[in-house]
Amino acid sequence: MSDKKEVVITFTAWTSHCADGCCTDYGTELTVNGIKAESPYIGDNVAQSIEFVLQQLGYAPIINKE
Ligand SMILES: [Zn+2]
Repeated sequence: MSDKKEVVITFTAWTSHCADGCCTDYGTELTVNGIKAESPYIGDNVAQSIEFVLQQLGYAPIINKE
């Protein structure tokens, strides 16, 4: 048995169409331990996803892009 803390991370892909059916939008939601991120597109962005996960775990992440 592991003594590591469990964290449940869920990516939910979605697609939606406008009322006319002429436009399509899509993205990926991200939920961490039951808390869903505000942006419905966050799951498509690695840096934003990592930041959100770490924040939910109590960290103050500093994300550097080089
Ligand atoms: Zn449309």
